[in-house]
Amino acid sequence: MKINLLPGMSDPGISGEKNDVFIFDIAWRMKTRPLHFLVMLQQDLHVHTTYSSNDSAIVAEQTIALVAAVKHAGIVGISDHFDSLVDGYFEEYEKEIRQAGLKVGVEVDGHAWAAEAANYIVDYYIFHCRDRDADYHSLDKLLATGRPVIVAHPNMLDTNLNRVPIECLIEINNRYVWRTDWKQFYSPFKDHFKFVISSDAHQPNWLGQTVAHYAAEQLGIQEYLVF
Ligand SMILES: [Zn+2]
Ligand SMILES: [Zn+2]
Repeated sequence: MKINLLPGMSDPGISGEKNDVFIFDIAWRMKTRPLHFLVMLQQDLHVHTTYSSNDSAIVAEQTIALVAAVKHAGIVGISDHFDSLVDGYFEEYEKEIRQAGLKVGVEVDGHAWAAEAANYIVDYYIFHCRDRDADYHSLDKLLATGRPVIVAHPNMLDTNLNRVPIECLIEINNRYVWRTDWKQFYSPFKDHFKFVISSDAHQPNWLGQTVAHYAAEQLGIQEYLVF
């Protein structure tokens, strides 16, 4: 098919990034939108799947294969509940995630699980840090592994961010950020920590971060890319 170039359009004979710009340019002018360009997020490291078997919000369709196929972000990590993985499921979990080309994470529910979680080879940790001494000490334990540690939805767990080591990454969570006074909670720390934005998706239609990005923008927070 011959494409007639409009004024300002570039030559379709070129490849790579310039060609992407060209395709985008055509689509824009034709009033169609190449969704891939517009909705792909940069990163999402907090995604659950059917491996979070004890979580009632999970649906059967939320498989690693589906998350990998949707590929809603440039970097996608799976972070199922660690306590659902320890009974012999971790090996299969890790293998399936690696084969899908995604990052391997786990979501660790407080100090009771931290020491054991530190022994597992993962790419990063997501940690439930409630306002108790043992949970803050567990952050040090996980940081000692040298792997990134993301403090999960701190606004929902009453985490005292004054007690969180500066090396931790603080999450702005699309599922939970809007449920509290997030401006009051996050504002004092916005220049103190690095922040990551997550979906915390448990179902395919949760694979998005719209509200979390809105909050980050209002706070003047730039997302930190972990990988
Ligand atoms: Zn959580
Ligand atoms: Zn979660």
